[in-house]
Amino acid sequence: MKRLVVLGSGTAGTMVVNKLRPHLDRADWSITVVDQDGDHLYQPGLLLLPFGVYEPEELVKPRVRFIPDGVDLVLGEIDRVDADTNSVHLADGRELGYDYLVIATGTSPRPDQTPGMAEGEWHKSIFEFYTLDGAIALRDKLESWDGGRLVVHVVEMPIKCPVAPLEFTFLADAFFAERGMRDRVEITYVTPLEGAFTKPIASRHLGGMLVDREIAIEGDFVVDRVDPDARTLVSMDEREVPFDLLVTVPLNMGADFVARSGLGDELNYVPVDKHTLLSKAHRNIFAIGDASDIPASKAGSVAHFSVELFAKNFLEHVHDRPMTHPFDGHANCFIESGHGKGLLIDFNYDTEPLPGKYPMPGIGPFTLLEESHLNHWGKLGFRWAYWHLLLPGRPMPVPALMSMAGKRREPLDTVSSPER
Ligand SMILES: Cc1cc2nc3c(=O)[nH]c(=O)nc-3n(C[C@H](O)[C@H](O)[C@H](O)COP(=O)(O)OP(=O)(O)OC[C@H]3O[C@@H](n4cnc5c(N)ncnc54)[C@H](O)[C@@H]3O)c2cc1C
Repeated sequence: MKRLVVLGSGTAGTMVVNKLRPHLDRADWSITVVDQDGDHLYQPGLLLLPFGVYEPEELVKPRVRFIPDGVDLVLGEIDRVDADTNSVHLADGRELGYDYLVIATGTSPRPDQTPGMAEGEWHKSIFEFYTLDGAIALRDKLESWDGGRLVVHVVEMPIKCPVAPLEFTFLADAFFAERGMRDRVEITYVTPLEGAFTKPIASRHLGGMLVDREIAIEGDFVVDRVDPDARTLVSMDEREVPFDLLVTVPLNMGADFVARSGLGDELNYVPVDKHTLLSKAHRNIFAIGDASDIPASKAGSVAHFSVELFAKNFLEHVHDRPMTHPFDGHANCFIESGHGKGLLIDFNYDTEPLPGKYPMPGIGPFTLLEESHLNHWGKLGFRWAYWHLLLPGRPMPVPALMSMAGKRREPLDTVSSPER
């Protein structure tokens, strides 16, 4: 009997067990998936919860509901992996042996890594929305806040869903406008990047949208500390950004057990081949989703597309055949832009987000790098697709590899900022 152990039953780990169980004979293979708790959180909903679009209970379902027959779900905190003896140790002393291991334990916000952040002003004037508790606390704050200096801030890249802080900024602009108090709120977007996003064309486009909305950008801002008493962000080069309300995306890091096991880089991400997701150090360990160090966005869409190819590669690998389905870094993300509109971006390791139509060339119905109401409805509709198609590993009507069909290559100068 061969043993496959999957660490983490979030977006990627759940899809992995659903994709692989039908193809691994039950007489020959056991599959176990481990997670620290029993609740599956739909993380994209955390962006909208602070604005009252979702209630917390709409974003959480029991994990067990998405685990197929023939897969054991073990609940417990992973303490470390011993790659020499092929075993996983849980914090409560349990031990799980494996022949193949898939690490899918994601990445988490770590406010403790920035001095002054998670201290006296935490959940008073300093908030985040990357956890359920954080998003609920921020919703309660926004409900009663009567204006001042709002600073939306990213500590360091990479973060999961790199467009989420921008989306939060656009939604905040619209939220305050709809409440008739936009003139009482000064919004500043503070980022360690030079511009609004990591890729030049999208950065120019999204940066233009910030300017249109009279949102200031403070770029190249490498935060050194938060001064909670003075309510100020301080950078390494001693620039200061004062705030009345700070919405930060703290440093994102992979799970601590990855570091304890000697399997991670300085941010606890597992170094893997970017096409096969096979560990660079161990022939029987893969890392998938946000837990790996691949140079793609940390996003559910990347988890989804990569699992499709990983499942085929894994079956070749365990039969000692070369893996013939290279992953291309394909990512796509809806970007909420406020007032019931959104954009869509679609890209991979080699091609940055371009304008055009998706998924059907010329037809869409979604528009790339351009605001539309349909894109917004696409984002809202995705929650249904996540629970009913994506997690159970059912086919989705989009290809795993990125396609150039429907995309227009345009020089930077011709990309204008959109009409509102
Ligand atoms: C606000 C927000 C908005 C987002 N919006 C989008 C979007 O619009 N589109 C998009 O594609 N993506 C979006 N994402 C990103 C997406 O949710 C993640 O990229 C995706 O969930 C990654 O899947 P994963 O399986 O790698 O990690 P996760 O889904 O985070 O799963 C990791 C699992 O590992 C478990 N785990 C971790 N450590 C341990 C341990 N020590 N012991 C036991 N279990 C452990 C956790 O409990 C968790 O269940 C968003 C994320 C956030 C926070």
